[in-house]
Amino acid sequence: MDHIRDNVSALMASVPEGVIVVAAAKTRKPEEIMAAIDAGISHIGQNYVQEAEKSVSAIGRNTLCHFIGHLQKNKVKAAVRLFDLIETIDSVKIAQALDKECLEQNKEMTVLVEINSAGEDNKNGVKPEDAVMLIESISLCKNIKVKGLMTMGPFTATPDESRKFFKATRELFERISLMNIRNVEMKYLSMGMSGTYKVAIEEGADIVRIGEGIFGPRH
Ligand SMILES: *Cc1c(COP(=O)(O)O)cnc(C)c1O
Repeated sequence: MDHIRDNVSALMASVPEGVIVVAAAKTRKPEEIMAAIDAGISHIGQNYVQEAEKSVSAIGRNTLCHFIGHLQKNKVKAAVRLFDLIETIDSVKIAQALDKECLEQNKEMTVLVEINSAGEDNKNGVKPEDAVMLIESISLCKNIKVKGLMTMGPFTATPDESRKFFKATRELFERISLMNIRNVEMKYLSMGMSGTYKVAIEEGADIVRIGEGIFGPRH
């Protein structure tokens, strides 16, 4: 587990203060996640409800847990129970299901809206031109609070190719912020992964989601 400790130290040293590093933990064992926490990680990102359940039962809930996968309606109940922040809301339907379940569990959930910043077909996230309308609709949900945007950028892009999508997402973030929509706050901008986080931070990200850069290559 030494490599995890070294990676986290190097990463923390290279990331400006105020930027939250989320350890993207998909396929990692609880021991690996624990090593990252011991090294100073305080936010864990999970793509799958089932993996999050396993991790929580093995290591407890001593971190903030972000959901970064695609949320399915039949997982909403577990998601409300397990996560502190859901980064991937991209439809009114899933927002309403979440809202209803939050009421049930007497919990307020912080959410980010996922932007399909490259406008790719067959990709999760709302297209940039539909984001304002979606956020206005979600803002009516009383038990969830939109606090920012998340984007992946195109899968195959190099850091330099990613830059324009990060920039466009930040501009959207700023535009929405100026609209002062009730019950909506533009606080978090989650962009950038292991290969692209430096560019994402340059373009205004204050959450980066790092998997391989912390845990090493996925097997
Ligand atoms: C896996 C994953 C990451 C991290 O990717 P790496 O290239 O391993 O850093 C970030 N965001 C999401 C949504 C992911 O699924």
